Amino acid sequence: MNDKAAAWVPVPSIDIDEINSDLVAGDPTVDVAIYYPSNLDAPHHEKVNVDLIEHGFGKAKEIFGAVGVQLKLVSFTTGELDPRHFAIDSTVSSEELPSLRFVNMYRGAQRRPSRLSSDALEAFETIVGNTPGNDRVVHLVVLQDVFMTFYEELDFRTWQPKTISTGGLSFPGYMYGSTMPRHLRGLITITDLVKSKDSWKTIAHELGHKLMNVSHEYRDVSPQHEVNADGGLMLYGTGTEIPAGADGRYHRERLHVSPYIYRESADGVRDWNPDYAEDGFYYDSLYDGISVELG
Ligand SMILES: [Zn+2]
Repeated sequence: MNDKAAAWVPVPSIDIDEINSDLVAGDPTVDVAIYYPSNLDAPHHEKVNVDLIEHGFGKAKEIFGAVGVQLKLVSFTTGELDPRHFAIDSTVSSEELPSLRFVNMYRGAQRRPSRLSSDALEAFETIVGNTPGNDRVVHLVVLQDVFMTFYEELDFRTWQPKTISTGGLSFPGYMYGSTMPRHLRGLITITDLVKSKDSWKTIAHELGHKLMNVSHEYRDVSPQHEVNADGGLMLYGTGTEIPAGADGRYHRERLHVSPYIYRESADGVRDWNPDYAEDGFYYDSLYDGISVELG
């Protein structure tokens, strides 16, 4: 870890061994590290606190465990963060365009990937830093506001930018590709775990973006920025399903080839899934045969 993150300490009330006590050696596993600044503004505590994170992580373990992937908590640390990092813009928003009109969302993002803003980059370098192996860990970082700008279509030639404060943001491969520095590519921000009645699944949902490398889509629902419906894990609603096969848009198959997954032998040797073949976008050839060709 870098110097600043090294000053962070384990959250005393979290028993990591207890949380990991159900892990089975040899099964597909993803390492997750959680970072929770100790000096966030007091009113934010009702949106995110240690109990809510622990609960959400437990739910994520159940949801991914049901399809054969176990989540291992490798650290849950806290420490002081420079308050200027509490609120960040997720991307260089001046470079964002409406979704390209003549190719699908995933092809459009590959052509014009999102790029991490300089203040996001600085915050993540401070909190997570660059340690060997960081590129194979999912890092859950709690902040107060992470803004994202996207465009709503008003009519056939008019778009309106909309800036939202996200409850969680996964900085997924299908949007950022290799514009994310490699050691930070596993980063997810968590900012609000009580936004709606379904926010208990926010941590699992964001892990879904990162590990399946898909947007908000489910069965016959094509990818979009926001979808309010009950169904799969990747819609905003009560659903937690990670469906398999063409009908399920290959979510389960895509999960199981994730480069964040390893299997560890009894003597501690890790066998990692292959890495992305190109830049880690939706159509990376890692996903050949398990991508949906959209109109
Ligand atoms: Zn989402």
